[in-house]
Amino acid sequence: MHKIGIDLGGTKIEGILLDEKYNTIQRKRIETHQENGYNSIVKSITSLVNELKVKTDEDTSIGICTPGVTDANSGLIRNSNTQCLIGMPLKNDIENILGYEIAMENDANCFTLAESSLGSVKGYDVVFGVIMGTGIGGGIVINGNLHKGRTNIAGEWGHHTLIPHGNECYCGKQGCVETYISGPAIEKRWMEITGKKESLQSIVQDLSSEKAKQWKEEFLENFGIGLANVIDILDPDVIVLGGGVSNIPFLYDEGKKAVYDKVFSDSIETPILKNSLGDSAGVFGACLLSN
Ligand SMILES: [Zn+2]
Repeated sequence: MHKIGIDLGGTKIEGILLDEKYNTIQRKRIETHQENGYNSIVKSITSLVNELKVKTDEDTSIGICTPGVTDANSGLIRNSNTQCLIGMPLKNDIENILGYEIAMENDANCFTLAESSLGSVKGYDVVFGVIMGTGIGGGIVINGNLHKGRTNIAGEWGHHTLIPHGNECYCGKQGCVETYISGPAIEKRWMEITGKKESLQSIVQDLSSEKAKQWKEEFLENFGIGLANVIDILDPDVIVLGGGVSNIPFLYDEGKKAVYDKVFSDSIETPILKNSLGDSAGVFGACLLSN
């Protein structure tokens, strides 16, 4: 069976058509145009699916990777950074237009599925995948299958409480991991400590000043506690990092040590690895949803 995967992002929608061996037959990117609203996004997705579908004569499965979680009971999108999707029955609306069933999952789940099947953590049985970008997400894959949980929130470590009564989070809680180690949270804290407005990329260029050291120590502490909590509960065979923040080089040595220091074990050796699919994890993960 051939596979179509769609990755719905805040600025672009990417589609891919793969053969049964995961070779690319066709790939296309279009603009999301959030400003045109929900119906326009639904139409863009279904048009892209139809456009890819005519490129093959084989039976084709359709998977869609979305920002935000689909509520297990209501089928409505929750907690999406693409605001116009929130509260909408996206899966249902797409299926109604296409006339057949599709698979749909959030970006962290698609990322974890793609990296564990085709990427840098292929071959590990229990994988915890982390997206550290504009937001913080996570996914769990066990023996090649997504573990979604009873209410579809398994792996959502970005909104577990790191610091009680800490930073306000858009989700309504306080002190969530996301408000300390996501890209925007890092830049905000850097500004508070150093008085300088800088991008994440430029922040990590030079960390020799006293203030920079203070920032780094605090960041490592938060990163360490956040992931140590995950290891204590799941004890995965590997952790794979994705998203813009995963490009920070020291996460894989000093970051790993900070995690190990907080884990409830003296013999911890869980590998913490960088992704290998980059931005392509979304479309490939979407294709893998139908396996
Ligand atoms: Zn939160």
